[in-house]
Amino acid sequence: MNTDRITIAVDGYSSCGKSTMAKALAKRIGYTYIDTGAMYRSVTLYAMRQGWIRDGEVDQTRLEAALPDLTVDFDPQGRCRLNGEVVEPEIRSMQVSSQVSRVSALPFVRRHLVRWQRAMGASGGVVMDGRDIGTVVFPDARLKVFVTADATVRAQRRYDELRSAGRQVSLEEVLANVRQRDDMDEHRADSPLRRADDALLLDNGHMTLEEQNEWMYQAYVKACRCK
Ligand code: C5P
Repeated sequence: MNTDRITIAVDGYSSCGKSTMAKALAKRIGYTYIDTGAMYRSVTLYAMRQGWIRDGEVDQTRLEAALPDLTVDFDPQGRCRLNGEVVEPEIRSMQVSSQVSRVSALPFVRRHLVRWQRAMGASGGVVMDGRDIGTVVFPDARLKVFVTADATVRAQRRYDELRSAGRQVSLEEVLANVRQRDDMDEHRADSPLRRADDALLLDNGHMTLEEQNEWMYQAYVKACRCK
């Protein structure tokens, strides 16, 4: 097998478990894992803390002016940092989840984050997950996977995660958020969520974690062989 370090793009719908799979694959093959959703969540958290999101309206002028001075990166444990501060688990809250698709639809936000993401993955050996990795960030990625599952299955998984982290949420609220984000992500004008023509489709709704991880690993092995 050719062992050059390739770029792996994992895209898909909200809460379909792509981060878990992407992280497990990166660990197994010794690659860097990059969670681009965490980056959009961190910028959203920043805007919320500044009071720049009110009644669903984002103060775009202020946010655009602030972006060049913002740093979003990952610590050695893979936790997302905003200006050096670890912002896990705050960026996973329902408050951030309910605003993030508004912020991520803004073209100037996407421009900035895509630039950072391309720099992070410039030398290959990365598994990057998001919504536009295979279509926009790394359209030449050697392996592209597009993950989906029924919205009710995804909401239940997210609900279980939030509850086990001690969050007081209802299943209805989580399902509504998952559907709202899917809709906004698929219908935004700039880089909408869609499957790249050359992405492998994975519907993991009825797969165990082990089956998903093995599927990803075999896709990686095959992608390396096909070089
Ligand atoms: O992956 P996660 O659900 O944490 O992503 C949160 C939100 O960030 C998504 O709903 C989407 O609006 C946005 N996002 C994006 N492009 C990416 C990754 C995430 O627009 N590459």
